[in-house]
This record gives sequence, C-alpha cells and structure tokens, in this order.
Amino acid sequence: MPLMTAEEYLDSLRKLNLKVYMFGRRVSNPVDDLIIRPSALAVAKTYELAHDPEHEDLMTVRSHLTGEKINRFTHIHQNREDLLKKSKMGRLLGRETGCCFQRCVGMDALNALSIITYDIDLKYATKYNQRLLNYLRYVQINDLTVDGAMTDPKGDRSLPPHKQPDPDAFLHVVEKRKEGIVVRGAKAHQTGAVNSHEILVMPTQAMGPDDADWAVSFALPSDAEGITYVMGRQSCDTRKLEPGKRDQGNIMFGGHEALVIFEDVFVPWERLFMYREYDFAGRLVELFAAYHRQSYACKVGVGDVLIGAAQASAEYIGVEKASHIKDKIVEMNHLNETLYCGCIACASEGHQEPSGTYCVDILLANVHKHNVTRFPYEISRLAQDIAGGLMVTMPAEADFSSGEVGHLLKKYFKAKDGIPMENRLRILRLIENLTLGTAAVGYLTESMHGAGSPQAQRIMIGRRINMREKIRAAKKLAGVE
Ligand code: SF4
Ligand code: FE
Repeated sequence: MPLMTAEEYLDSLRKLNLKVYMFGRRVSNPVDDLIIRPSALAVAKTYELAHDPEHEDLMTVRSHLTGEKINRFTHIHQNREDLLKKSKMGRLLGRETGCCFQRCVGMDALNALSIITYDIDLKYATKYNQRLLNYLRYVQINDLTVDGAMTDPKGDRSLPPHKQPDPDAFLHVVEKRKEGIVVRGAKAHQTGAVNSHEILVMPTQAMGPDDADWAVSFALPSDAEGITYVMGRQSCDTRKLEPGKRDQGNIMFGGHEALVIFEDVFVPWERLFMYREYDFAGRLVELFAAYHRQSYACKVGVGDVLIGAAQASAEYIGVEKASHIKDKIVEMNHLNETLYCGCIACASEGHQEPSGTYCVDILLANVHKHNVTRFPYEISRLAQDIAGGLMVTMPAEADFSSGEVGHLLKKYFKAKDGIPMENRLRILRLIENLTLGTAAVGYLTESMHGAGSPQAQRIMIGRRINMREKIRAAKKLAGVE
C-alpha cells in the first residue's frame, strides 16, 4: 500500500505498542488521547492531501527505487524540482494545519543519510548505503512516518561526549553482540515522536576519535523494546480537555514534542547506518540541518494563517481600511514572503551529491532558517497589535454559554453589525493559539530553536561565505594591488 489514507494512518498508530507518559501517567492509546490527538491529525493531513488531485503533484512522486507513486515525505530528492516541491509542500501543509505537521524530520534524515552512507562506504568499503536503501524501500512501500532523532540532552555543553560525567548524556553504544549492538541514551524535543512508526537516530554533533561509541545512526520501530516517550507540556494544553472547543483557537490540529529514552535497546546490524565512523558525524549533522532548515517553509504556511486571522479580526471591528492597519498587513506579508524567498532559493540553488541525491544550497538554507528565528516574532507582534487586548482578556467559552452572564458578554463583545460575535471570538482565540498558546511552540519557539538555534546558523553562515572573493572584488574596484 504505497499511499495510506488518513484513516489508515491513524489506525496504524493504534496498532503500535508505545510506552508513552504524560502528566505522570501512562497513556494507553495516544492517538485517541484528547491532548495528543490534534497532533496525530496534523500528520494525518500529510496522508490525506496525497489523495487530493489538487495537491498530488506536490504531495506525491515516483520512487526512484520502486517506480511506485509514493508520498513525498518518504522520497529522496532526485533533482531541483523535487527540492522546490518540498518547499512548496511545506508551505501548503503549514497553511492547511496552522501548526507543525511533524513528518519532515524523517524525510530530512533519510535524505541526509542517503548522502552520508554513500560517502562512508567510499572511504571504508562498508555497506551502509545499500542497507539504507533497503530500509527506505520498506518505508516507502508501507508509507511510514519516521521520526528523525538528532538532539541529545548533552549534559555539560563544554565537554565532548566521552568526557561527560554521565556517558548517557549523549546516546551511545553500550554493548556489541553477534547480531547487533545495544544503545543507551535519549533524544530530546522529538517532534511528532509518538505519531511515528519508526525512529531514525543520528549523532548530534561533530565528534573525535574518543567519541566513536557515540557516533551511531540507526532505525528502529517506534515501539521497540526499551524505548520510552515522555510528552512535553505546551502552554494552554489542558484547554483541549475542556468541553467546548472554541478556547483552543485551532480547533483541529496541533503539534507535539517528546523526550525519547533508550534504555539498553537492541539494534540489529541491518538497521545500522553509521557505527563508530566519528569522522562523518559532523557532516551528517550539517546535511540534516541544511535539509531541515529548508523544511522551515512550514512557517510560511503558518504565517499565511496568522496574517489571514489578523486581517479578519480587523474587518470584524471595522478598522481594516485604516492606513496603519493596511500598512501592518503589508509588512506582515513582506516578512512572510521574504521567508518564502529563502526556502525557494536554497532549493533552486541545490546540487547533486556523489550519491545522486540532490542537496539544498547549505548557505542559503541557513540564511532562510536564520530569518525564521526572527520574522515570525515580528509577524506575531503585528498580529497582536491588530488583534487588540481582547485576545487575552476574553472570558472563557463556558461564560458565554452561562445563563447568568452569557447575555451580558454577548452584548458587550458585539462588534460590527452583521458580524456574528462568535466569529470574532474564534479568530482572536486562533491568534492567541498561534502566538501564545499550544501552536506558539511551533510558530515561535520552534522557529527559534528547531533545526538548530540562531547561533548554529550564524556559525554555518560564517563558514560558508566566500569572504576572499568579496575582498578581491572590493580591492579590484578600489585599485588596491
Ligand atoms: Fe516540519 Fe516545520 Fe514541524 Fe519541523 S517545525 S517538523 S519543518 S512542520
Ligand atoms: Fe522542527
């Protein structure tokens, strides 16, 4: 079944035997849990749109391995067109869900590993690339969601993995057996972890010879023996437990992150894609980060939603024609489309690697993500400016339904004639959700730290800029010998 439907995807999650904890208790059925379910529905959108004739060109592609039509999230980019469509797909899904739809990390990990396994094989005559392609075929044929897992807890950041007081601060090999290895450690901030069928682990940073036991990459079923998930909290998360839906803002979708703990987990050799080749860890991180920084096209789509909400909120109270409101909306669009330029640019300047995989332009991908660490904050500030204070002083949905005060609230919060008050409240709650609530994790903090914090991009920009060429150009024009 190369293309699952959204329903089949949700059913496939129900069959997993994940060990998930949230609010101090074990969650027996994550996909039907009120807090987690919106995030599963967001991933389900990546399955649903693959069946929509309007979007199939972006959402699906022919596999270079099987020739079958597959979901683009399981594809290895074969040309620049693929890279461009990936950026456009991200914007589309951001706009359709208004949140993080989680499935990009696995796609980015598979693409980065398709390059690095080839390069390791060339140097060490290993067989990682073929193993990865076998695994990829399995992912494509079953249309799986893969959690690409990179970030270790890292303990004392001034120390390399082998010098950490607790060696588990970075995930590492604790035992070598005839059939495989045993690993221990954790991966933090794992986007969509409990909505994934597979977990694909990579090292988190460049490593030296003494860190070889920490230089490991492998894939496992997400419910493999010894893996535990602890869900992260989000601002306003328990609103999802309330009877009405309106105070959630986004009444359909959400994202999630979890800490994933590996307690002596067995990995068979055929699922290992890097084992002690520490000299390739840094390059793998760089490649994964570049792909994932491109993936932040998603925030352009979420920006579309926020700009639409800000405009609607202005129209509801009759201020949309005021010159300062029009100017703020233009500014929001300018910032959002500037972000779009970046994710399109790094794709169109992509290049082919020796493995055959197309890779984004690494400098431009970093510039794009660096803009993402800033512009959504400014777009949010302008949205809050336009929305006004009611966004955070509005009583609860239950008060509007109350026999005692409901009629008073409806009287005093009424906006323009002909505009149902309900619409205004819903739109304000959506802006609250995107800029302060559960979706602010995805639109703001994830924009800051996801795919690497701003400083990580500044380091890459510093490394990748051709400064000698700039100096040469300046000296030539100034007549400096
Ligand atoms: Fe994909 Fe964006 Fe979520 Fe990252 S933050 S997983 S790029 S939707
Ligand atoms: Fe992310």
